[in-house]
Order: sequence, then C-alpha cells, then structure tokens
Amino acid sequence: MKSRVVILGAGFGGLELATTLSEAVGDKLDITLIDKSDHFIFGFAKLDILFGLFGFAKLDILFGHETTDSVKLYYRDFVKPGVRLAHETVTAIDPAKRRVTTDAGVHDADYLVIALGADYDVSGTPGITLGENEFYTVEGANRLRDVLPKFAGGDVVIGVCHAPYKCPPAPSECALILHDLLVERGLRDRSTIKIVNPMSSPVPPSPETAKALLASFAERGIEFMANRRVVRVDTAACRLFLGVPKSRAPDVVVAAGLTEDGWVTIDKFTLETKFPFVYALGDLANTGAPKAGLFAEVAAKTVAANVLAHLRGEVGTARNPGAGACYIEFGGGRVARVEVDFYSGPTPVGTFHAPTAELRADKEAFGTTRRARWFGR
Ligand SMILES: Cc1cc2nc3c(=O)[nH]c(=O)nc-3n(C[C@H](O)[C@H](O)[C@H](O)COP(=O)(O)OP(=O)(O)OC[C@H]3O[C@@H](n4cnc5c(N)ncnc54)[C@H](O)[C@@H]3O)c2cc1C
Repeated sequence: MKSRVVILGAGFGGLELATTLSEAVGDKLDITLIDKSDHFIFGFAKLDILFGLFGFAKLDILFGHETTDSVKLYYRDFVKPGVRLAHETVTAIDPAKRRVTTDAGVHDADYLVIALGADYDVSGTPGITLGENEFYTVEGANRLRDVLPKFAGGDVVIGVCHAPYKCPPAPSECALILHDLLVERGLRDRSTIKIVNPMSSPVPPSPETAKALLASFAERGIEFMANRRVVRVDTAACRLFLGVPKSRAPDVVVAAGLTEDGWVTIDKFTLETKFPFVYALGDLANTGAPKAGLFAEVAAKTVAANVLAHLRGEVGTARNPGAGACYIEFGGGRVARVEVDFYSGPTPVGTFHAPTAELRADKEAFGTTRRARWFGR
C-alpha cells in the first residue's frame, strides 16, 4: 500500500509541499491536498486588487482590466502525479490518530501536514468588520477598492490591530501606494496618511529597510506610529480606515488542541508538532519567522525532505532555515527586496536591496515562476 500524505490547505505552503513530493516520487505516494476554495490567490495580489494594479500583467495596469477574477489561480489547473486535490472543508483534526474529517468524509494519514494559513479575529476590535474596512481579505480589498474612487480627501489611517500579522511590510506598502494615488488624483494636499503599527519599526529585523521606509514616509508626509495598535475604530470619526485585523490559527486547528496563544506549537526546525508525523507549516505555525509566502515555502521544502527521507528508511536531517525574502512596494512603481535570516545568529539579520524598477521585474518573476511551477501557466 502506498504511504498516505494528507495536506490541509493548498496555499503557499501546501502547494509547494505537494509539488515537491510529487516531483520526487510521483505517484508512488498517495497525496491528498485539501482546500475549501476552488482557487488560490497570492497574498500580494490583495494590494493589486485594492489599488487596481496587477503585478503579473503590465497590460492590465495599462488598460485597467484587473479584477478579482484575473488574480485567481484555479486548482483544476494544479495537476501533479500522485496528488489528488479535494475541494473540501476541514471540520475536525485528530492529530493523535492522524485523522481528518471534512464536509465530505474522513481522511487517514501516515503523514499529516497542516497548512491552513491564518484566519482573522475581529472580536476584540470593535469597529473593524471583515470585508468592509480591512484589506487583508479579498472581500475587504474589493470593497475598499470601490470606496477609494469616492474618497474626496481627509484623514487616512492604515491600522494594524495585532502582531504578528501576515506580510509585515504590507501596511507600509499600502501607505506608499496610496500616497501616489492621492497625488495623482490631486487629493494629497487635503489628506493625511498615518500608519498605526504594534511593531517598533516598519521592518524590525532589518534596520536598513526600516530606515529607508521611514525616509520615504518622511519625504511624503506619512506618519508612522510605532508600538501602537488599533484597539477600536470609530467609523464616524475616521474618513478612511484601511485595517489589518488580528490573525490567528483557524478555529479547527485551535479545537484540535494544537495551539498556544493562537498559533500552532511546533519544533521550529522540523515543523513537527508534539504528535509524530503531524507537521504544521506556514502562517499558522509559531516559528518566530515572518508570516510570508517564501517562509511557508522553505518550511514546506523542509517537511518534504524529511518525509522523503523517512520513506527511504532514513532519519530526516533537513532543517527549516527560517530565512527568506520579501519584496516591498516603495511607490512610484519601484520595488525593494529584504532578505531576513531568523535562525542563523543570536538575533535576526536583514539585508536590504534598495528600490529599483529592476526589482519590480524580480517580483513579477517570483509570481510567474510559482504560477508556472504549481499551475502550469
Ligand atoms: C495583503 C497581503 C499582502 C501580502 N503580501 C505578501 C508578499 O508580498 N510576499 C509574501 O511572501 N507574502 C505576502 N503575504 C503573505 C502570504 O500570502 C502568506 O504568508 C502565505 O500565503 C502563507 O501561506 P500558507 O500556506 O500558510 O497559507 P495560505 O496561503 O493562506 O493558504 C491556506 C489555505 O488553507 C485553506 N483553508 C483554510 N481553512 C480551511 C479549511 N477549514 N478547510 C479547507 N481549507 C482551508 C485556504 O482556502 C487557503 O487556500 C501577504 C498577505 C496579505 C494578506
């Protein structure tokens, strides 16, 4: 009988894990990849939706044809030997038995990997409503995209409710792109832009990146309020609020008893939970590294290497590097890159690559290579 790998969540982590395993052993494994959605959207595409950009197709920027549909990558195009994509919703996880219940049935696993991403919790922040005044869900990005053209100037707050949150530079990117938009529409003089952020700087592990962002904010009159978080939104008082809601592991993972303080407890180097052959990776895992796509991807490669070693009868020696990179929109069409390494030294280390037009091409290549690798497009 083939070994059964059940992967929960076909996001950044799940897609990369299924792809790596399939490439290595093809249909010698029985891989089930479960997702409740019928499509994947890159996280950064939410900014593209919000501002009507579409990072992968310049013509779309030019002609303004971008829609939510244009950033959707359908799972029907994810075709890999040995992988079955199940369009199901996970309703219960029994990590001791490595058994998963979905709205369509039960899946038993020899190796169970939980990669369900992070969910949002607005219960502790009165005034913030999912799909309304936040840009972290597709619904919210879409809604605000409709609100932006009607904005006639005034005070704008880009506010983070809690850390850690996905893609730490995203609020800064949002502010810089918004500045450009308001300048273009002749509304900047009538507007203020403030970022409220619980972190000590826009990118704490890379002082150089933080310095460059703070300089850009200063040049553009954007105020960065560090060490502050949004605890309540007074929708009547705030002209435009673009929120980042509190994140945490999905309820189904919390109910499985796998979390502490909202995140899944794992060995940060092997991604294994306290249950043997049950792994958690990506945004929901408490790795101490940023919640960003590339970090989910390297974690997925680590789990794949150790599962493959175990299948060969060897002891897995792969270790999650806790290192990766993020592209940062700096406004004016320029993109910067920051590489951060969380595990090699006593403290995280970051390397900053200043914004250029060339790095935009790199960011686009980041998207297109994944799109081609996972979806064959
Ligand atoms: C506005 C914004 C901008 C971002 N920008 C960047 C960026 O520029 N660069 C970058 O690297 N990262 C960026 N990110 C972060 C990036 O999107 C995430 O870190 C990454 O997607 C995490 O991967 P993951 O596999 O953990 O989870 P996800 O990619 O979120 O995938 C989780 C999957 O699980 C599925 N799922 C959830 N619950 C269930 C259930 N009960 N049953 C079945 N399926 C379920 C979901 O449908 C989803 O497909 C951004 C995020 C946001 C919100």
